[in-house]
Amino acid sequence: MEYSFHVDQPEWLPVEEKSCSEIYATTEERMALVIRFSELNVRFETGGPFAAAVFESETGRLVSVGVNQVISSKLSFAHAEVCALSLAQRRLGNFDLGARDTPAHQLVVNWAPCVMCYGAAIWSGITSLVTNSGPEMEEITGFDEGPLHPEWREQLHARGIIVREGVMREKALAVFRRYRDSGAPVYNARERSRENL
Ligand SMILES: [Zn+2]
Repeated sequence: MEYSFHVDQPEWLPVEEKSCSEIYATTEERMALVIRFSELNVRFETGGPFAAAVFESETGRLVSVGVNQVISSKLSFAHAEVCALSLAQRRLGNFDLGARDTPAHQLVVNWAPCVMCYGAAIWSGITSLVTNSGPEMEEITGFDEGPLHPEWREQLHARGIIVREGVMREKALAVFRRYRDSGAPVYNARERSRENL
């Protein structure tokens, strides 16, 4: 009987993270790191083509980086954003990445969060989200982001979360095409409920 759960990151990730810089000063540098990790997750066949990282917004200090681990963990919530946010919270010893008297934190992810990660981002305490958006990811890969509210950006702004989009978009899309061409699985859950569609 299982009474606990945890999500391991793939074995290559700590090795890669150790070789990372301590500081990523620009938004482009931060997104480049995230896209590199998404590409590594595809190359090593350790999960979906998604990565996310948490930085201190001002200094650019890398706090955590995570990649999608749904299949290996057998947990549907093990998306890259949830992994990166959870690692940051454990490393900082606080469930609130926006706690008073601590640096503001930024989540950088290679594509717009799904409905679950959208909520996770709000609840995490981050004050800044850097991502890319549009229909291309779903069209290329077949992954489902879910019914994201059309005013998702405004709702983030209303909660004090600044959104920046369109950073290295083509490079992010290139990884999705590579994933599609690899023939790797699209692991949308809900196979049974899909029969009712
Ligand atoms: Zn997600």
